Amino acid sequence: MKRIVLVLGDQLTPTLSSLRAADRARDVVLMAEVMGEATYVRHHKKKIALVLAAMRHFVAELRADGWHVDYITLDDPANTGSLRGEVMRACARHAIGHVIVTEPGEWRLMQDMEQWPATTLLPDERFLADRHGFAEWAQGRLRPGGGGRMEHFYRLMRRKTGLLMEGDAPAGGQWNFDADNRAPPPGALGLPQPMQFAPDATTGEVLDMVQRRFPDHFGDISPFWFATDRAQAEAAFAHFLRHGLRDFGRYQDAMLIDHRFLCHSVVSAYLNLGLLDPLAMCQAAEAEWRAGRVPLNSAEGFIRQIIGWREFVRGIYWWRGPDYARSNALDAHRPLPGFYWSADTPMACLRACVTQTREEAYAHHIQRLMITGNFALLAGIDPHELHEWYLAVYADAFEWVELPNTIGMSQFADGGLLASKPYAASGAYIGRMSDYCGACTYDVKAKEGAKACPFNLLYWHFIARHAERLRRNPRMAQMVRTWEKFAPEKQEQLKQDAEAFLARLA
Ligand SMILES: Cc1cc2nc3c(=O)[nH]c(=O)nc-3n(C[C@H](O)[C@H](O)[C@H](O)COP(=O)(O)OP(=O)(O)OC[C@H]3O[C@@H](n4cnc5c(N)ncnc54)[C@H](O)[C@@H]3O)c2cc1C
Ligand code: SF4
Repeated sequence: MKRIVLVLGDQLTPTLSSLRAADRARDVVLMAEVMGEATYVRHHKKKIALVLAAMRHFVAELRADGWHVDYITLDDPANTGSLRGEVMRACARHAIGHVIVTEPGEWRLMQDMEQWPATTLLPDERFLADRHGFAEWAQGRLRPGGGGRMEHFYRLMRRKTGLLMEGDAPAGGQWNFDADNRAPPPGALGLPQPMQFAPDATTGEVLDMVQRRFPDHFGDISPFWFATDRAQAEAAFAHFLRHGLRDFGRYQDAMLIDHRFLCHSVVSAYLNLGLLDPLAMCQAAEAEWRAGRVPLNSAEGFIRQIIGWREFVRGIYWWRGPDYARSNALDAHRPLPGFYWSADTPMACLRACVTQTREEAYAHHIQRLMITGNFALLAGIDPHELHEWYLAVYADAFEWVELPNTIGMSQFADGGLLASKPYAASGAYIGRMSDYCGACTYDVKAKEGAKACPFNLLYWHFIARHAERLRRNPRMAQMVRTWEKFAPEKQEQLKQDAEAFLARLA
């Protein structure tokens, strides 16, 4: 039986389960650029351009490999605007009645595709942990308020993959070297840059189209330097191994205004599109350590992000189901402030992170977690609005990875299923880990008065608002006790200052 093999924009992997199940002499591969996918949130222009350019390069790879590919562009006058519509049209065009597709990475599409006629969904095997196996493991182990089990899962994954193992023991005698990974920002000299690529003709056409069709979407389209095919993505990763990995661990949490990438790999978008293989990347990072070129804390820190966090959040996403997106355990309902789009704020840290996000469609983990995420948590921003923002603005944002990071890790909106404590911090953390405060109109050391850093005001407001819940959390109880020891007049003043700030935010 001849079949349509639908390949989605984040399935750009030649060993994809649907391609492995197909017959290249007989079946037709369908890839389609559709408005529905480009606009269900208003994605950053660079993100749309990256996905479409990478799709077009992947088609060339498949055709060179002997596949018959039917490729529908966004500008095709007959384009229906939806994946379902394009699949129906392709079935009619090729007189084919059966469709195979590797499972999509979002509940939204999964629920839609499960209703499509004569469609077989195959598991996505590009991950190290099977999503059903994760659900079995998580059941009974993970529960709201009992978060922080990632470390247990991570050890299972280390044993399963054999990465950084000496027999049954972790290399270096420790599973986790995170304590070595919190150095304050380095001097700027000698910091690597991610590898950058000039757009070729295919990417150039996509950039023109995105500029023309999505002029009012957030973000700058140029300069555009992302890798758009497998060879480039692999070169970018090799460049990171050579120049970034050595200091990746040490400066993982640091932030600098003029050095946006520090020693981060900037490969998440390539990995999530399917241009890189997670296990091969981790094996290459381990080989760097075994060859004595990078310290263990860097190799371990990098591998933990991929086989630990990346797999863990995916497991949570599928296990918790579509309702996870509406979690709001802290009952936060304030609208997202306009400066998340405009960067127009006197708070230098937020201004720097939003400006960088607008220009690069990239921010590293601590910028997402401890600046934009931390502010939203302290200010009580609606987690669903914030989720839609993260999903729109980053080139690497796909719901299976973005949503648990936002809802669970950053906003504690799942009540502590994913994280063992809220990632709430006052200005002192930002002052220590970045150079932002030097460029700010607020004073990071001031805790009251007109110059007081808003993170300081909001931190105590957050602790006071959630004192009952946080008191029960062993990692937060001390902060509640500190708050309760403040004199009533001081508490009242802090509350008033924070509320005046929040009123101005509205
Ligand atoms: C609120 C919030 C939203 C996020 N949204 C996304 C998203 O949409 N897509 C995404 O890929 N990551 C997301 N992350 C995780 C992380 O911030 C990015 O993976 C990372 O910043 C990508 O940059 P990098 O490639 O330079 O990563 P590096 O710092 O070099 O880390 C290496 C790799 O590890 C993986 N990784 C690291 N941390 C995480 C994590 N917490 N979850 C999953 N994978 C991780 C990524 O694949 C990354 O490429 C989010 C984090 C937060 C706090
Ligand atoms: S002083 Fe406060 S608001 Fe300003 S940059 Fe520092 S942490 Fe951010």
